[in-house]
Amino acid sequence: MSGSSDMLRAIGAIRTKDPTRRQLLWGTAATLAATALGVTEAVPATSPIKTISHGEFSITVLSDGHLTIPTRFLARNASERDIKTAIDLTGDLVTPPCNVTLVRTPGETILIDVGAGPHYMPGAGKLADNMEAAGIERKSITKVVLTHAHPDHLWGLLDDFDGTPLFPNASYVMSTAEFAFWTAEDVAVRLPEDRRNFVAGAQRNLTSVRDRLHLIAPGADIASGIRAIDAAGHTAGHIAVEIASGKDIALVLADALMHPIISFAHPDWSPAADHHDPDRAIATRKRLLGRLASDKSLAIGYHLPFPGLGRVEVDGSAYRFVPAS
Ligand SMILES: [Zn+2]
Repeated sequence: MSGSSDMLRAIGAIRTKDPTRRQLLWGTAATLAATALGVTEAVPATSPIKTISHGEFSITVLSDGHLTIPTRFLARNASERDIKTAIDLTGDLVTPPCNVTLVRTPGETILIDVGAGPHYMPGAGKLADNMEAAGIERKSITKVVLTHAHPDHLWGLLDDFDGTPLFPNASYVMSTAEFAFWTAEDVAVRLPEDRRNFVAGAQRNLTSVRDRLHLIAPGADIASGIRAIDAAGHTAGHIAVEIASGKDIALVLADALMHPIISFAHPDWSPAADHHDPDRAIATRKRLLGRLASDKSLAIGYHLPFPGLGRVEVDGSAYRFVPAS
């Protein structure tokens, strides 16, 4: 698409009442806007939803929108040229999506992470709106699992207007190590300088639900069939979440595997977001990749292309992500 008349036609058509068409065109307009900003990776549409059955459970993936980050942040220990070659991209910005997983079991409705809320990045923080658009009531959530306390996973916890929890009937689950890290008195000095603004948001959100927050160790059961898996390194107490019902097993990866090419083909490359212990994050990545390639569990990635569902295959000396069809 080129020229201002095409742009005007696209923007005019956004006003259509047909939600499918509106969603499609939003994506088009967002891509045009992103191109103007130097983003060459397609910006995802803002309100997709995907539901699959999973044994006796169902798994729904909702979008919180997307982030916009410098391409060079995809790996700190690789050159920008190598990164761009690996992902076949020339732009200086990328727009990873944010996929939030909702699990319905016979007894519970469990949300895994809560998105970014309105104050992190303009493209993110769409979860509450997208839940409403999908007819999913926030008060129906019985449990919220927080994989870690980075803004794009946590800052959507509270109502922006009055500071009360957006999921009023939920109890909350997080790893003990993650909570201890963010609430330690010296947390700011233990963080890289560019992450220090994460502290106030983490503490505000976590203390607001402290009386309903259950701290667990990796390996602990979160609900029947749902278990925390150690995935530390990205942050101090980062967890993945295993969802098992009947023969079906899924692994919600959170940020252990963030990019559909780099995390799989170059698991040794350290994204800038692996702020706590990059070597441990690499070991975590390889352990999870090895497991997923051998047991063929369904992988669910927070920042993988929406809906972030797929399988892992061995590819030479590394791996590849095969999106679920
Ligand atoms: Zn993230």
